[in-house]
Amino acid sequence: MLSKAKTQEAIRIMGEMFPDAHGELVHRNSFELLIAVILSAQATDVGVNKATPALFAAYPTPEALAQAPLEDVMAKIKTIGLYRNKAKNIKNCAQMLLDDFGGTVPHTREELMRLPGVGRKTANVVLGDAFGVPAIAVDTHVERVSKRLRICKQSASVLEVEETLMKKLPESIWVDAHHRMIFFGRYYCLARAPKCEGCPLLYMCQDGQKRLGIKQAK
Ligand code: SF4
Repeated sequence: MLSKAKTQEAIRIMGEMFPDAHGELVHRNSFELLIAVILSAQATDVGVNKATPALFAAYPTPEALAQAPLEDVMAKIKTIGLYRNKAKNIKNCAQMLLDDFGGTVPHTREELMRLPGVGRKTANVVLGDAFGVPAIAVDTHVERVSKRLRICKQSASVLEVEETLMKKLPESIWVDAHHRMIFFGRYYCLARAPKCEGCPLLYMCQDGQKRLGIKQAK
């Protein structure tokens, strides 16, 4: 397993590779970010960004979205996977924002996770990107990169990956680390074809060394 120091070194190197790593869901405020993250489950950020401008232009507030005709919300997001359920969730989410939170997006994980369509990962993205609250959202890229680099156990659940990262990284870099790992996973350590040859982390990556047939010290 990668030590605390090596894990922090890996995140620092990812930062050198992707100094501009950031959340890629286009939004103008915490409400739009919340809705965009709900829509991004099992979908790409690029796909969500294509649909949200029309959605947010028509329904820019929780009030407007809560009152929107379901069919029209579905039509506006129909290019996104699972759009039927997502349309219901974002309408219900907008209604709960009005009913329980005075029309604003709550600032705690517990409250965020009460909203329809919001799980721990979504809540963590909103906490970090909308409010600057330290949190690490574990998506497919963060999980894959953490396991390939042996930051966590191969058998770790998503929650265990998050907990291990929180233990090994200082709180002050959780949000940046999450963005760096996503960029690194999305553009470098790809699921099917990681660019191991030439990877600046190869020297500490057993997975990459194995892929390239490099003999590992016992
Ligand atoms: Fe990913 Fe390969 Fe780099 Fe390891 S060496 S981190 S598997 S790209």
